[in-house]
Amino acid sequence: MESRKVIIVGSGPAGYTAALYASRADLKPLVILGSEPGGQLTTTTEVENFPGFPEGIQGPELMENMKKQTERFGTEYLSAMVTSVDLSKRPFKVETDNGDKFEAETLIISTGASAKYLGLENEKELIGKGVSACATCDGFFYRNKIVYVVGGGDTAMEEATFLTKFASKVTIVHRRDTLRASKTMQQRAIDNPKIDFLWDSAVSEILFDDTGVTGLKIKNLKTEEENQVDTHGLFMGIGHSPNTGFLNGQIDLDDHGFIVPTNSPHPDTNIPGVFACGDVQDSYYRQAISAAGSGCMAAIRAEKFIEDQA
Ligand code: NDP
Repeated sequence: MESRKVIIVGSGPAGYTAALYASRADLKPLVILGSEPGGQLTTTTEVENFPGFPEGIQGPELMENMKKQTERFGTEYLSAMVTSVDLSKRPFKVETDNGDKFEAETLIISTGASAKYLGLENEKELIGKGVSACATCDGFFYRNKIVYVVGGGDTAMEEATFLTKFASKVTIVHRRDTLRASKTMQQRAIDNPKIDFLWDSAVSEILFDDTGVTGLKIKNLKTEEENQVDTHGLFMGIGHSPNTGFLNGQIDLDDHGFIVPTNSPHPDTNIPGVFACGDVQDSYYRQAISAAGSGCMAAIRAEKFIEDQA
């Protein structure tokens, strides 16, 4: 079984930054990329708030740059998903869906979070047939069509704004009458003539035929009135849940499934030698830059841990 000083599980800004620091510390890290190499920023467009890019940068390009920077210092990558870990003793054991087995002196968990869905009947079967959680991936298919976006946060505003490049009209369905999104992103959506809002409303049913989504039933939560609308697209913009299932209860999680840091401000977990960074342990900031910062901290903690064991 291959043995490593540091294995990094997940590859968003947190994982790549951890890899950068670990490789520069000569720890020869292995990054197991996961199902969405590069993480959530690979499905976004313009990133305007990552310092160092006065004109902004495209999310996928930023992630590609981060990866290249780590490769310069010898980080290795494996295209696989971690299916299970054994954290009961060191070295930790890691298994992937390719059947690879590794031992690791330290583990850095940076598996991020995935888009949430509403939980409506047939919703999951309709992914790719009108239901989506990624406007940048699927927006192109909605040229001159009417689409709906659910949510009132930055994700919903960003998805809706992006979709106006293709769609003839975008309606944001929000369950309250005030938005959670940052002022700038709210304003951008409000000012966009192709976007309108349905306040105090929820999608109650997705209508479909063999071709995919054909319409929605939308309920006004104050009046209980339900209306049917025609549409080919429903985009989720209702937040994300942390990817912690593979830990199988071996790491302390909070009520929403986020890893609980045990030695704040350090990114330590309840298992010595296992560190967590990025959105998988952060339900508050959830920014690329804070994820990158915590990735740096996790790598420095892993380096210190290995030194202390020697
Ligand atoms: P948020 O948690 O901020 O917002 C989720 C939204 O979805 C809320 O308006 C919430 O309603 C609504 N919602 C949640 N669950 C449901 C449900 N079951 N049914 C209907 N509506 C629901 O998540 P985001 O993904 O928008 O943002 C997360 C973080 O990422 C934020 O910090 C944000 O700033 C950041 N971000 C930044 C971007 C950028 O800078 N380019 C782009 C995207 C995100 P309610 O308000 O009632 O709770």
